[in-house]
Amino acid sequence: MTVSRNSNTDVLIVGAGPTGLTMACELARHGVTPRIIDKSPTPSVHSKAFGIHARTLELFETMGIVETTLAQGNICNGFDMYNRGKPLAHVIFDTLESRYPYFLILAQSDTEKILNAHMESFGIRVEREKELVGIERTDPGITARLKLKDGSEELIDCSYIAGCDGAHSTSRHLLGLEFKGAPYPNYWLLADCDLDWKYPLHHLSVFIHPSGVTAFFPLYSDRGRLMFELPDATIDMEMAEPTIEDVRRHMNEREIDYKSVGSPNWLAYFKLHHRIVDRYGDG
Ligand SMILES: Cc1cc2nc3c(=O)[nH]c(=O)nc-3n(C[C@H](O)[C@H](O)[C@H](O)COP(=O)(O)OP(=O)(O)OC[C@H]3O[C@@H](n4cnc5c(N)ncnc54)[C@H](O)[C@@H]3O)c2cc1C
Repeated sequence: MTVSRNSNTDVLIVGAGPTGLTMACELARHGVTPRIIDKSPTPSVHSKAFGIHARTLELFETMGIVETTLAQGNICNGFDMYNRGKPLAHVIFDTLESRYPYFLILAQSDTEKILNAHMESFGIRVEREKELVGIERTDPGITARLKLKDGSEELIDCSYIAGCDGAHSTSRHLLGLEFKGAPYPNYWLLADCDLDWKYPLHHLSVFIHPSGVTAFFPLYSDRGRLMFELPDATIDMEMAEPTIEDVRRHMNEREIDYKSVGSPNWLAYFKLHHRIVDRYGDG
């Protein structure tokens, strides 16, 4: 096996999702030039975490990317709740004590593009198809062992490794950190799709019904994320492929008025988890 060694990195960031990209941008803004690696050949294309809250927008302002982010996202300045399709509550976020009294809906893939472009403006690029597989403590720093696409290994000596490698974090496993928590009991059905209906396109809509809660997050003018709580779903759901017909069936059953729903580009069953690592530093 070929092993190459590089030794000039102060900080190695593992993972180029929103956390790793933000870490790289902020280190660069404060005068530290990190290296950033990701095992995946390409960035994710899914909308995943699409809600950007007021405090994050304030931090984006400090970073210098808030205008670009606002220009691409959909401002959501209210929250409407319906009971069996009839209005129940209406909340406006105007009184939030922030320069950005709303939350912004933007696909995570788009947020990552903005962060990536900002990071590249500092001359930093994601080194893709490099996977962290080992961490060795050395004196005075640490050595990261990476697996490369061609099967060879690269060793990087560094002062810090920033583990930004997501929910199944290799760095967390390698350091033996706990990730205590559990899944919530209910499954949800997620559908990113086109939607023609009467409900506001700049508000989050929540529909209460004995069959389960439904939430709608408007991504663009005629497109958004529907999420159906499925209180009676079994574990088999994890294996199943949802269809747009399932979406229509839930809409009808829950008395949610709509003209048309279609063109899904992401349909999935999932469970929410609550978990937290036992500490954020080691060594
Ligand atoms: C299918 C899915 C749907 C989701 N839906 C929602 C949602 O609807 N709402 C919401 O709020 N959140 C959602 N999330 C969660 C949200 O996407 C995450 O909270 C967010 O991505 C976390 O960002 P991150 O940068 O910490 O990690 P990630 O985005 O997971 O990025 C981690 C990166 O590390 C890389 N990596 C992992 N291991 C290694 C390794 N050993 N070496 C090198 N690179 C490595 C991965 O390739 C990845 O690019 C969803 C997540 C998934 C997977």
